[in-house]
Amino acid sequence: MHALSSTYARIRELKCEWVPVSDMSDAIRKRSGRADVIDGEAVAEQVRAEVADAVEQLEAAGVTPGLATVLMSDDPASETYVRMKQRDCAEVGIESRHVEIDTDAPQAELFDRIDELNAEDAIDGILIQRPLTESVDEPAALRRVDPEKDVDGFHPENVGRLVTGDPRFVPCTPLGIQRLLLEADVEIPGSDVVIVGRSELVGKPLANLLLLRGKGGDATVTVCHSKTDDLASHIGRADVVVVAAGVPELVTDEMLTPGTVVIDVGINAVGEGDDRELIGDVAYEAAAETVDAITPVPGGVGPMTRAMLLRNTVVSAARKADIELDFD
Ligand code: NAD
Repeated sequence: MHALSSTYARIRELKCEWVPVSDMSDAIRKRSGRADVIDGEAVAEQVRAEVADAVEQLEAAGVTPGLATVLMSDDPASETYVRMKQRDCAEVGIESRHVEIDTDAPQAELFDRIDELNAEDAIDGILIQRPLTESVDEPAALRRVDPEKDVDGFHPENVGRLVTGDPRFVPCTPLGIQRLLLEADVEIPGSDVVIVGRSELVGKPLANLLLLRGKGGDATVTVCHSKTDDLASHIGRADVVVVAAGVPELVTDEMLTPGTVVIDVGINAVGEGDDRELIGDVAYEAAAETVDAITPVPGGVGPMTRAMLLRNTVVSAARKADIELDFD
């Protein structure tokens, strides 16, 4: 057994023994002020344990899942994100491969390396770390990835499949948000979900995911954005509010009503030096006095995004090898 797989086997033994969603919600919802805090770290740990289990199922069939990360940028934050993803892979037994390309190299070099990864059997998922250096046509680079290895779900073919109700890979942040809602026992079908933000990364794919038919879908979705008139009136009538605007504390407690579940996707660095901290798009302290449940920043959506990348990678490996996983 992989050393870290055994660690996860222990985690499962201790606390993640295929807990039904209704029981799980007590573990991930912690009472604070008036609202329950939806603990993204706890759910992400559960997802990683499931992934480690899936890796064992794949290993038993002679398959080692592999994720390639591609970096063509000098951005220190991107370098950190890539390192974190490699560490996440190692923890659950996924092989990771890192490809780094000089920022002054021609675009063709990036495309050649993507082509090589597309052709390589040991690679099940390819992640292009964005933003790419300015000289590169980023949409063209994302289109270059084999849609069957596009674990980020950004290839137009995968976007189209999600929109038309036949998803293959769903982007990791929306997938993580849906899982948080399910684990927190939120009844998604029929609920009024207001999403603030219409990005290709979060807002739009989340809207499409929650519109799919079935347990994690069938919601009534409104997508608000920077040109929305009277944001507060939309937020005020929602059962679930998801905020992904990248504007610190855009949503205040005056906009929110009791009974609402709030998912804060925003990550904003504010302050300088020792006062520097990460805050969300929701004014957390006051909102937690008003709503029913809320995700913290950090420790809410962020860990789920990372965990869902691992999940998409093992799902890809299983699909390629025609192996049915327990959780898929
Ligand atoms: P983006 O800049 O691509 O999109 C922001 C969206 O917010 C736009 O659609 C814009 O119309 C809308 N918006 C901006 N100001 C608004 C306002 N005043 N009122 C209403 N709508 C407004 O951003 P993104 O990539 O979707 O990311 C959003 C935030 O989520 C950022 O803080 C980002 O760092 C964070 N993020 C977090 C995770 C995670 O895993 N936790 C993942 C992705 C993004």
